Amino acid sequence: MNYYSLNHKAPNVSFKDAVVNGLAPDRGLYFPENITPLPEDFIQNIDQFTKEEIAFKAIEQFIGDEIPKDILQKIVAETISFDFPVVPIDKNIGTLELFHGPTLAFKDVGARFMARCLGYFNQKNTNKVTVLVATSGDTGGAVANGFLGVKGVDVVILYPSGKVSDIQEKQLTTLGQNITALEVNGVFDDCQDMVKSAFLDTEIKRQLTSANSINVARWLPQMFYYFFAYKQLYKKHKNIVFSVPSGNFGNICAGMMAQKLGLPIKHFIAATNVNDTVPQFMKDGKYEPKSSQPTISNAMDVGNPSNFIRIQQLFDNNFSSLKTGFSSFSFSDTETKEAMQRIYTNSSYIADPHGAVGYLGLEKHQLKADEYGVFLETAHPVKFLDVVESTLDKKIAIPADIKELIKKEKKSILIASYKELKDFLQ
Ligand SMILES: *Cc1c(COP(=O)(O)O)cnc(C)c1O
Repeated sequence: MNYYSLNHKAPNVSFKDAVVNGLAPDRGLYFPENITPLPEDFIQNIDQFTKEEIAFKAIEQFIGDEIPKDILQKIVAETISFDFPVVPIDKNIGTLELFHGPTLAFKDVGARFMARCLGYFNQKNTNKVTVLVATSGDTGGAVANGFLGVKGVDVVILYPSGKVSDIQEKQLTTLGQNITALEVNGVFDDCQDMVKSAFLDTEIKRQLTSANSINVARWLPQMFYYFFAYKQLYKKHKNIVFSVPSGNFGNICAGMMAQKLGLPIKHFIAATNVNDTVPQFMKDGKYEPKSSQPTISNAMDVGNPSNFIRIQQLFDNNFSSLKTGFSSFSFSDTETKEAMQRIYTNSSYIADPHGAVGYLGLEKHQLKADEYGVFLETAHPVKFLDVVESTLDKKIAIPADIKELIKKEKKSILIASYKELKDFLQ
């Protein structure tokens, strides 16, 4: 499969080059040249297929012959080697739990798939590739874990000292092997600036790659769990509405891709925190990026969502057709906390702040009698322990593997300047 740049000023490339480049040379996002819907009888009989078969069918056309079938099957199976349950919240609402992976966030799916694809493409190279990422929290952990032990790939993660949660820090700093954590004396933007400088620095001889969320190998596998949710629900519920807590809009855009492949999804809701660039756009058709505001659902603090352009492409850049299948709403931290309390009081379910924003999206949509709403739980509530415990006034149980993780010894290298990063990379 070939991919073109949405800026239309760069050559079309193979899947492999789209994965290795990340972004096209004209700074555009890559988009597949063709999207072929899956056979109707496959969708109608989806409950007869395993999750590995479903995921393989969904992704196959986007890779083409660039990875042999048996290897792609193995990559897919390893990517999704955990559960994706839809848990009922009340009679017409359920939550799709995406936190059963190793770092307890949905980003595990994209990171694991990308890591294995890059590992495959790089296996014959004698030169190692270095994946360089800056993280404000969840991305770094998912990438580090996804790439752990992948041959031919080193991972260097920059994170702001004292600015990530304890669990997130341990997820970055305790893995060892091919993963190195650089603890930056600064804020997230300093980490990001250093990474950008390194990519532009011709004196660095290592081959650097990013594992950014715009990479096609992180975006596309996120389709899988929309199919898994549908398989669990379609015999009982006809009109499924997904509400996706959104920041960079990669997750929801993957759901829309699943719909394009023929998955019968009635409606999508993008629920955001006060970073409301897209909800504003849906009101007046004007896209005005803003600087991001900090919130309690901080993985969605994005003022200029990079994947929104892919959503517009899926709807042929037609505002009125976008409006029929998609709506977007923004919620404050106060509303989010009240929703967490409401979900807990009514259903004894502990939602994290991101999932609660998704739940608010369903409330605002006002489900019709024949609709079933699913909000995505994008992270486990323990990842946001302070907010969840103080909002619900309740201690929450820490899973056993997190208790083990917290006991592990942190290993990081402190740096304070770009020169120190450069010295490390040379
Ligand atoms: C990254 C993240 C999001 C936002 O996902 P996008 O694909 O960027 O829209 C939502 N919730 C959690 C917990 C995340 O880590």
